[in-house]
Amino acid sequence: MIYPDFPVSRPRRLRRLKILRDAVAETTLLPNDLIYPIFVKEGISAPSPIKSMPGIYHYPIEGISKALEEALERGVRSFLIFGVPQHKDDMGSEAYNRRGIVQKALRELRSSFGSEVVLITDVCMCHYTSHGHCGIVEGEYVDNDKTINYLAEISLTHAEAGADIVAPSSMMDGMVKAIRSKLDANGFYNTIIMSYSSKFSSSFYSPFREAANSSPKFGDRRGYQMDPRNVREAVKESILDVKEGADIVMVKPALSYLDVLRAVKESLLVPVAAYSVSGEYAMIKLAAERGLVDERKVVLEVMHSIKRAGADLVITYYAPKVAEWINEGYNPF
Ligand SMILES: [Zn+2]
Repeated sequence: MIYPDFPVSRPRRLRRLKILRDAVAETTLLPNDLIYPIFVKEGISAPSPIKSMPGIYHYPIEGISKALEEALERGVRSFLIFGVPQHKDDMGSEAYNRRGIVQKALRELRSSFGSEVVLITDVCMCHYTSHGHCGIVEGEYVDNDKTINYLAEISLTHAEAGADIVAPSSMMDGMVKAIRSKLDANGFYNTIIMSYSSKFSSSFYSPFREAANSSPKFGDRRGYQMDPRNVREAVKESILDVKEGADIVMVKPALSYLDVLRAVKESLLVPVAAYSVSGEYAMIKLAAERGLVDERKVVLEVMHSIKRAGADLVITYYAPKVAEWINEGYNPF
């Protein structure tokens, strides 16, 4: 495409007035785009603050509906539920207990809100296993093909309890296929699978591990999570997951992986979610508390950049705040 040179061309013309900037803005962000992660914890009777993530709480099952109300009033409708059980064992048996914490929370939320909410569940084993790995461990190796059967069983118990979307996050090969066939065989062909298709072995997860109490007791997750140096592999992982039946794919983390988001978006025709993780949240939160950045401005810049890079959905601990700012008409651009 040929453009005239200066002085005929003056890109600043379109930036002169706010109303014009808004009219030609290429990216929009709505409360509907946001997914809010929620931690439900066994053995507590009142919300308890998570130290590493200021403003975020562990919630007891009793009263979990109340925890969602504020976000709902602001227009956030989608929630990603994580369970923090009291009992952990080698086989992560609480993860697929039909009376487990996530299953109970799903029933409670479904009866409170009916179809007013989209309930998404994280499907993994690391919060439930005594060793903290994302699957069944043989020696020091996470056994892929055994683990995917457990992930399928966990997904089934979530679907039975009312999950609209199951989100497998363990990065096991074939996990989406195993889950899709299990759900279909049990009549849950409308349950959506949002795969954590390219989840990187990232150091930005540390605050979450306090929240979910899920650090591995030995080794690390580099044997299954992705290498931060790779982008083509992320595209491959996403394509494989869609072929196995993923309805939505995900890139996690978000901010250091915007190029991955763009590449995945351009290679696939399904919606793409981005998970802006605990470390991203904590960095902004603490910098804002120190007065180094304007929290609202920085958060909205980050959220728009994630959408601009290709995300259709953004999972963020800032979801209710962002929705509040949008509803107030706050616009820093
Ligand atoms: Zn895990």
